[in-house]
Amino acid sequence: MVTRVWDYLVEYHKEREDILEAVETVFGSGRLVLGESVSGFEREFADYHGLRACVGLDNGTNAVKLGLQALGVGPGDEVITVSNTAAPTVVAIDAVGATPVFADVREEDYLMDTSQVADLIGPRTRCILPVHLYGQCVGMAPLQALAEEHGLALLEDCAQAHGARHHGRLAGTMGDAAAFSFYPTKVLGAYGDAGATVTRHPEVESALRRLRYYGMEDRYYVVDTPGHNSRLDEVHAEILRRKLRRLDDYIAGRRAVARRYEEALGDSDLVLPSTAPGNDHVYYVYVVRHPRRDDIIEALNAYGISLNISYPWPVHTMTGFAHLGYRPGSLPVTEALAGEIFSLPMYPSLPLETQDRVIEALTEVLARL
Ligand SMILES: *Cc1c(COP(=O)(O)O)cnc(C)c1O
Repeated sequence: MVTRVWDYLVEYHKEREDILEAVETVFGSGRLVLGESVSGFEREFADYHGLRACVGLDNGTNAVKLGLQALGVGPGDEVITVSNTAAPTVVAIDAVGATPVFADVREEDYLMDTSQVADLIGPRTRCILPVHLYGQCVGMAPLQALAEEHGLALLEDCAQAHGARHHGRLAGTMGDAAAFSFYPTKVLGAYGDAGATVTRHPEVESALRRLRYYGMEDRYYVVDTPGHNSRLDEVHAEILRRKLRRLDDYIAGRRAVARRYEEALGDSDLVLPSTAPGNDHVYYVYVVRHPRRDDIIEALNAYGISLNISYPWPVHTMTGFAHLGYRPGSLPVTEALAGEIFSLPMYPSLPLETQDRVIEALTEVLARL
């Protein structure tokens, strides 16, 4: 059996009755699209954040995309973000016709270097899109100040940071709107594709509701501005409602896994994740760093352990974004990281014996390097 960084089946076997009951609830409800489960989840997820509104969407990429559109970002605009992120952040910017502009990340925690953002603001800048990467928040105060000063929208990419806090404030509550993914691997994951965008602004909420529903107000059959079909599915909404009640337990489980790695590997040559001041980390992924990353991954394969890299190719180096004109060396920290980071198995139901096997194998491999 191969050990992977993530496996939903352990959780499924534990929560099977609840998950299947969710499916039964929706199938027996008499309403399969935009019913009680979606509206219930939207209310509960908004309440969890103390925000006015949550609009359930079909996935996290579209949560970013519709979030940008609802904030008025479109063709010709520039959006400042990072290249050290999941490609969908940038794909969503491209999809609305805007141009991504990249800040580098910090050596300490691999998060957006917010001190670079002021210099990247130009006449076409419309939005700043920080990514709360790996499970912890970007320091938002400098970005809030810049957004205020220059009249920019601030959209948080929270796809990796459900329940993470920055000086006590939840990820998703510090900008104009925030995009979440509930892809199965995420800290709050559905059993398929799902997403949502949350906001404090009533006009952003109504724009999101129209955009996900062809461009119509719910129940009116007239399109003002053409939108999309990007609705959250009832079945996933019902599963998410139930899992939301356990979100804080999932996070506690992830932190326990992180603590064990720290105890076992704290003295090794690996650079372990560092939590930025004021942050409560939720460990969506447990990213470590070593200059001989590729050798380590290959050696671990022989133990039946298959590890991921988040992310091996910075977005600005991808063929699909070559037209942006970034040259090698333009984002030095991001590029150096990409060759040295890798992720250890991390999910709340990770069995102790699996974690021990990974720690033992890794310790042996590091000793042999
Ligand atoms: C997962 C992820 C997304 C995209 O979410 P999907 O639901 O897979 O479309 C966007 N941004 C980040 C940072 C992510 O990790």
